[in-house]
Amino acid sequence: MSTYTTSGCSTSVVVGLSKQIAQEVGCMSPGALVAFQPGGNLTFSSNAVLPYLHSTARTDLLSVASTRSVQVNSGFRTVAQQYLLYRWYQLGRCGISAAATPGRSNHQSGRAVDLANYSSLISAMSSKGWTHPIPGDPVHFEHPSSPDIRGKDVQAFQRLWNRNNPADKISEDGAYGPQTEARLKQAPATGFAVGASCGAATAAPVDVVMIDGPDKLAPGARGRYSITLSNTMGTDWPGTAKLVVVDGSELHDDTLWTSPTEVGTLDSLGGGAIGAGAQGVIEIPVLAPMVSEVTAYSAEIALVDNGTTLGTIQLALSVTPNGDEDSSGDAGDEDGEHEHDEGEFEAGTVSGGCSTGGSIGWLALVLPALLLSRRRR
Ligand SMILES: [Zn+2]
Repeated sequence: MSTYTTSGCSTSVVVGLSKQIAQEVGCMSPGALVAFQPGGNLTFSSNAVLPYLHSTARTDLLSVASTRSVQVNSGFRTVAQQYLLYRWYQLGRCGISAAATPGRSNHQSGRAVDLANYSSLISAMSSKGWTHPIPGDPVHFEHPSSPDIRGKDVQAFQRLWNRNNPADKISEDGAYGPQTEARLKQAPATGFAVGASCGAATAAPVDVVMIDGPDKLAPGARGRYSITLSNTMGTDWPGTAKLVVVDGSELHDDTLWTSPTEVGTLDSLGGGAIGAGAQGVIEIPVLAPMVSEVTAYSAEIALVDNGTTLGTIQLALSVTPNGDEDSSGDAGDEDGEHEHDEGEFEAGTVSGGCSTGGSIGWLALVLPALLLSRRRR
């Protein structure tokens, strides 16, 4: 996965490996990480959202979403995603002003979410046990009654690595160090051949193992998402199988899609026939709607063969009129810095121990970044 340190700005390129890590954590500690899906009032703002939380935190998030719109920028984050965010930060890429070292992000705790529409949700989240603890990081919420499982994802990666590389075993201690980092760089972004160890972690029939494309698009811009699909079924998918929009045709491109509700076929989108057990890559073009405010769009696209739905793909992005489309949706702002918790602040990142100092320190970091990004245009 080290090839992605210098290209792209979405951690969705490691979704396959990240899902395996999250599933392995669930095998090691049942309930510590459970999956949730977008739908109804719950929307995702990019493909980088890895929708796993502790079971209690998930229940309390879905309870809030049962009565009002909840737009998720970031959920769980694995050591693989945090490795990329930290490298991008070190390289000055993707608009990341600060990032926790791998293993240390609050989002590796399994009890944190970032919500785009945070301001309208603070009291509803609070009534369900979600705190809003970090001055200067307004999108961030935590669920302190759920356990902090930081380190479990590192241990899950170590177990997956050892299972797939019996001749190169490393310590399964949950500590992130040079041994783990070296293996992480070599690990396949789309996931290992042998995945999680418990039966509950069965893959979807149409399993998305990588999405390579921007988290954000400018209004009216064309985007292209290169999606690696794994056919986990026992039958081949013919090249004539169609990609049909179930929900979210706002993203359709008149000139590149077959119709507003049909993207094309596996053949026309570059994937061709995909045999049983094999992987293929399709390219889905989208046209960002003209909007004047930041708006999250998600599409559910079904793979349909001869009238039979084989499975679905979720695609999510944000249309951002403020000109930050080259940044990461997962940590394109102050949110990459999540090393601090329990009210502690790291010198040189978010400064100050009170809200005023914290806000000023944060602005001092972000304003130069904004000026730089304007200058580039
Ligand atoms: Zn956060």
